[in-house]
Amino acid sequence: MSDERTDQAEARTRTRAEIDLDAVRTSVAALAARAGAAATMAVVKADGYGHGMLPCARAALDGGATWLGTAFLEEALALRAAGITAPVLCWLSVPGERFTAAIDASIDLSASAPWTLREIAAAARSVGRPARVHLKADTGLGRAGATPADWPALCDEAAALQAEGVIEAFGVWSHLAFADAPGHPTVQAQIGVFRDAVAIAEKTGLTPTVRHLANSAATLVSPEAHFDLVRPGVSVYGLSPGPEVGPPGRFGLRPAMTLVSHAALVKRVPAGTGVSYAHRYTTTGDTTLAVVPLGYADGIPRAATNLGEVLFAGRRRRIAGTVCMDQFVLDIGDDAAAAGDEVVLFGPGGRGEPTADDWAAALDTINYEIVTRIGTRVPRVYR
Ligand SMILES: *Cc1c(COP(=O)(O)O)cnc(C)c1O
Repeated sequence: MSDERTDQAEARTRTRAEIDLDAVRTSVAALAARAGAAATMAVVKADGYGHGMLPCARAALDGGATWLGTAFLEEALALRAAGITAPVLCWLSVPGERFTAAIDASIDLSASAPWTLREIAAAARSVGRPARVHLKADTGLGRAGATPADWPALCDEAAALQAEGVIEAFGVWSHLAFADAPGHPTVQAQIGVFRDAVAIAEKTGLTPTVRHLANSAATLVSPEAHFDLVRPGVSVYGLSPGPEVGPPGRFGLRPAMTLVSHAALVKRVPAGTGVSYAHRYTTTGDTTLAVVPLGYADGIPRAATNLGEVLFAGRRRRIAGTVCMDQFVLDIGDDAAAAGDEVVLFGPGGRGEPTADDWAAALDTINYEIVTRIGTRVPRVYR
């Protein structure tokens, strides 16, 4: 597998995702500046939002992040296996998770429920070292975290286990539902519930060192949500967390990924030619078609059929017909092109190519989904 990826990376004629690590460093520095006195945790889950976890984690640390965040334990362990020693928090576990491995590797763990604390404590007893835990409050997202009704019991359990010396309740944290809608009333409401949760934890005798609530959007536009630590993810990679927050350049963010391919075939066809599966596109005149060797198995959404745009042969072209597993087609009219010519699917936008934001807008999704779904057949090439 890794050999194949290397071969592909060396055969740069087909497809690659170019990752500009300087853009990651610049974007993280901009986020850390916004965070002010708060520390910055770069979220590198989902293979660094599709950009490659390890190179981006290192670039983020170079850019001024002092923490890394992952969803899953496997991701956190991979950071440690690569020799990264910065504090790492991972936050999504199920019963039976390998908490001993996490504690051995000095990975901070999250707990939303007493069962998690008890499993972490059992693992800590067997390792012979306390586990660092961040207690998660559900302040209104309605996802992970203990509800206000369940929060006191979670704090009590944590206080008892801390007194026993098996856990250290190092953090209290939560996550926002509408951070990408600046001024949305739930943001202030969640901050209020969060402050209450911290106060209850302190009344229980806990003295959390870090309180954290802010994702990228709140890092950029809601300073009152910064507390001690911010957790930007998508903006680490230079992307805006949403159109209402503003374009990335407004915040000094630089999109890091450029998805490039090359035409596999260019050919003339007559008017009335049905193009790709189910002929969802038919040529209206004699024209030139170009076949691009990327498909839905590579993360090009099939929903981009007749919708997605790319830069090819000097201008934007809309995908003609159905996006297939491995390829899609462009209709370039009478313009000149040849097999091997470059196709830019998206990038920072400076060369006239679409951006991940453009793809998201065209497909009624978010830029996060566009970049994270780029598949394993696409080699990441670092600049
Ligand atoms: C993914 C995630 C983040 C980062 O969110 P962005 O919107 O990408 O900045 C922060 N915190 C938690 C809990 C997450 O799941």
